[in-house]
Amino acid sequence: MMKVVIIGNGVAGTFTAQHIRNHDENVEIEIYSQESYPYYTRIKLPELISERVKIDDLIVFKKEWYEKKNIKTHLNKNIISIDPKQKQIFIEDENEPVAYDKLILATGSMPNIPPIKNAVEMVGKGVFTLRNIDNALEIRKYIKTNEIKKAVIIGGGLLGLELARQIKNCDLNTTVVEFFPRLLPRQLDVGCGDMLKEDIEKMGIKVVLDAATEEIEVNGTIKGIKIKDGRKIEADIVLIQAGVRNTIGLAKNANLETNRGIVVNKYLETSEEDIYAVGDCIEYKNQTWGIIPACLEQSKILAASVIGNRNIEYEGTVPKNTLKIVGIDLTSVGIYDPSDKDLVGAGWDIMKNIDKKGGCYKKIVLKDNTLKGAILFGEKEAIPYVNKHIEKQINESELREAINLYKWICGGCGAEYDDAKMEILFKDLPEDWKCPNCKGPKSGFKKKI
Ligand SMILES: Cc1cc2nc3c(=O)[nH]c(=O)nc-3n(C[C@H](O)[C@H](O)[C@H](O)COP(=O)(O)OP(=O)(O)OC[C@H]3O[C@@H](n4cnc5c(N)ncnc54)[C@H](O)[C@@H]3O)c2cc1C
Repeated sequence: MMKVVIIGNGVAGTFTAQHIRNHDENVEIEIYSQESYPYYTRIKLPELISERVKIDDLIVFKKEWYEKKNIKTHLNKNIISIDPKQKQIFIEDENEPVAYDKLILATGSMPNIPPIKNAVEMVGKGVFTLRNIDNALEIRKYIKTNEIKKAVIIGGGLLGLELARQIKNCDLNTTVVEFFPRLLPRQLDVGCGDMLKEDIEKMGIKVVLDAATEEIEVNGTIKGIKIKDGRKIEADIVLIQAGVRNTIGLAKNANLETNRGIVVNKYLETSEEDIYAVGDCIEYKNQTWGIIPACLEQSKILAASVIGNRNIEYEGTVPKNTLKIVGIDLTSVGIYDPSDKDLVGAGWDIMKNIDKKGGCYKKIVLKDNTLKGAILFGEKEAIPYVNKHIEKQINESELREAINLYKWICGGCGAEYDDAKMEILFKDLPEDWKCPNCKGPKSGFKKKI
């Protein structure tokens, strides 16, 4: 009987195990994890800090699920090395290696700590990152036992903002510090970044942009941070959410090909026979992901690949991110700013619906009539349309209907007013507005269907 060993019980490792089991009832499947919990979702970790959720609410698959699926888990086991020749892995503090026929690396990623003076030295002593349940419990305990009043979050990305919201919910004076001149630099363009900043500030969270943190100031305990331009912000806890690094150490030490991530091919095979990789830890065609949809997609392909079905191939995953803060609806999908990526050229088309009064920003990016990306802020209804049509040819009137962006035609002269190209939506023009061409009244315009 074939024995598959999986290192890592996050979403990628767990779903790969499930799919393998769906393909084959007999394969022996064992999962090893450093952590002490069965598979749980990381999405709500910030809410564990603010006690909006309990550990139990995060656990996705309980003991019974593993029993039913006949998947053996080994928790609290740190794998320290792989011997690809002997097909064995080694566990910390244990003498006996574990043999495998097929090995899957689902080792995920770890928070990145930028080169900031005192950051590494103070981890656990007022400086924290958030990746797992234990980190969240540690942060919560530190805040409570030290009566913390002021927090700085370094990193204005999705996780930084979600964390800031929950730290604010702990009644702390909260400041987010971002290196780039806008929030969510990887998901938003400048226009939308400004609108988001306003909303975040309305929640009582301070936002400091264009700020490269140079030093965490310490005098026994944390005193604050110093920014390169000389600005200082007081704090008694500093939380770093500045991106992640793929966990590649095991693979690298076993001489597998690695770069930023563990390099895989379209079947999720690594450079070593019978060793595969999946999830946050991989690099495919020079790209890494770090989002759950990519893990889920890869896990299906990998499961097929492991049992010898090479009919499906990985083609990469379109990035899709949603900010999960109550009161803010924000989704960013695919290529949202072609000008940012040196993609400017023939065929690109951008449609925008900016309604500052209504707190709404919709941007659609097309190339040769194919939907390549979108930013949807203050808007939920168009999300299903965008998700369904991403990377597909679109029907323009259907798209316009989905994002409420219309063309209006003057009954007098046939002049066109295109919401997507104008700064002000037709509906927001004053009633005495006149057609710039024939001076006909606004009421003489009809929506083009
Ligand atoms: C706070 C937070 C919120 C997030 N929110 C979202 C969201 O809303 N949407 C989204 O798409 N993504 C979100 N993400 C990202 C998402 O959680 C990751 O993309 C996903 O967890 C990656 O899954 P994975 O299985 O590849 O790796 P991981 O979840 O990192 O799991 C890897 C596991 O392998 C274990 N491991 C590593 N090395 C070893 C070893 N040597 N021995 C034994 N075990 C080992 C690790 O301890 C870990 O348990 C969030 C992440 C965080 C931290």
